[in-house]
Amino acid sequence: PFAFQGKHITVAGLGVSGVPAAKVLHGLGAIVTVVNDGADERARAQAADLEALGITVRLGDGDTLPEGSELIVTAPGWKPDKPLFAAARAAGLEIWGDVELAWRLRGPDAAPWLAVTGTNGKTTTVQMLASILEAAGLRTAAVGNIGVSLLDAVLGEERYDVLAVELSSYQLHWAPSLRAHSAAVLNLAPDHLDWHGSMEAYAADKGRIYEGNQIACVYNAADKATEDLVREADVEEGCRAIGFTLGTPGPSQLGVVEGILVDRAFVENRQKNAQELAEVADVNPPAPHNIANALAAAALARAYGVPAKAVRDGLRAFTPDAHRIAHVADVDGVAYVDDSKATNTHAAEASLAAYEPIVWIAGGLAKGAVFDELVAKSAGRLRGAVLIGADRALIREALARHAPEVPVVDLDRTDTGAMLQAVQEARRLAQPGDTVLLAPACASMDMFTNYNKRGDAFAEAVRELGAGT
Ligand code: ADP
Repeated sequence: PFAFQGKHITVAGLGVSGVPAAKVLHGLGAIVTVVNDGADERARAQAADLEALGITVRLGDGDTLPEGSELIVTAPGWKPDKPLFAAARAAGLEIWGDVELAWRLRGPDAAPWLAVTGTNGKTTTVQMLASILEAAGLRTAAVGNIGVSLLDAVLGEERYDVLAVELSSYQLHWAPSLRAHSAAVLNLAPDHLDWHGSMEAYAADKGRIYEGNQIACVYNAADKATEDLVREADVEEGCRAIGFTLGTPGPSQLGVVEGILVDRAFVENRQKNAQELAEVADVNPPAPHNIANALAAAALARAYGVPAKAVRDGLRAFTPDAHRIAHVADVDGVAYVDDSKATNTHAAEASLAAYEPIVWIAGGLAKGAVFDELVAKSAGRLRGAVLIGADRALIREALARHAPEVPVVDLDRTDTGAMLQAVQEARRLAQPGDTVLLAPACASMDMFTNYNKRGDAFAEAVRELGAGT
């Protein structure tokens, strides 16, 4: 085990990961210095809290490597090309993120990790997985990017049998020695490329999740890039590649046959070649991409040895988080669905594939995205579109190119009140049986504090519609 006592450790970044990391390391007898780029009010308050414990904090100086540093523990969001890291590498230092720190601090009989990453669906899948593990009577928690922090899960009082761990590409980048029991990459689409530098680097960081897996590397059979990552990974002997598909599964795959989720990879009764797990209707909501999430969660649970019945019970007990394809209300025979969490084109494509006909509410901050593929694939399902937000022109132009017949209302507004007008316009375009879908394909920060607020504004507007009828 790593000896922290007396080590000079630099923690890069205050905030939700840096503050607890600094405290834990200080508690282990390390000599901790925290460096932070900013020096705003929040940073000063956090610094005062740490300084009271005897931890050194340097505000407004995130790029000078403190003299005598022997290890860097960084906030996951810090970019690899920061000068601080160049200096650390030149000095031959290791750089750990929050996940690596938690991994190193695990006790000898610690719970194994079932890990999930992917461009979209991570939170949902990890929550489904935790629900399945609970249904099997296991002590577990959804941890990582969500819920309980990894440090708390590893060091806290609570005892776990197994953890369902959500990992971002940033966290994986900074987690060189992590070895999961089993792991899944749900899908790979361009995202956060400014941080990683290239699609190759992004994929390689996601692929880290498979390194050293013991039992199963779970991949998406419809997304070849995920399968390639399994092939490139260096895993424990006997570790299996397990695919999931929305179609009929091959050997070593989970899939769907006549509305039933089936497992051909981990079969309980050797006389049979497939194990029935659950019905599609047990998945909430039963949209195609979400069935894929359920299959990935089931694959990881089955790799851990969970019986088929627990998969069904766990999926039935699962309810999705807010703003993820949430059915808000029906008004005049039109369904209103909030997928405010669809903050990139890959996510929006998934929810647009789940309904027809759709009046689509979209727009916001595009983050450099290109909308042609999304619009071309979804054009046939669109009754109309209502566009809001700063970068709506990009979507309007893509609609003009690929769906010229679809009526578009371009609301030239970025104020918060625009959502009510957008919903009213959508209602005018919609016919009974249609779905009005908020799937912005964009970030929300041009109009709202975050995607939660955007979704709340949509739901509020729908309630006003309903009240007016
Ligand atoms: P993450 O934690 O990766 O951001 P979430 O589970 O919070 O993922 O889902 C975010 C959004 O991504 C959802 O609102 C939905 O629009 C979309 N989504 C969820 N699962 C998938 C999937 N398997 N493939 C594509 N898009 C998905």
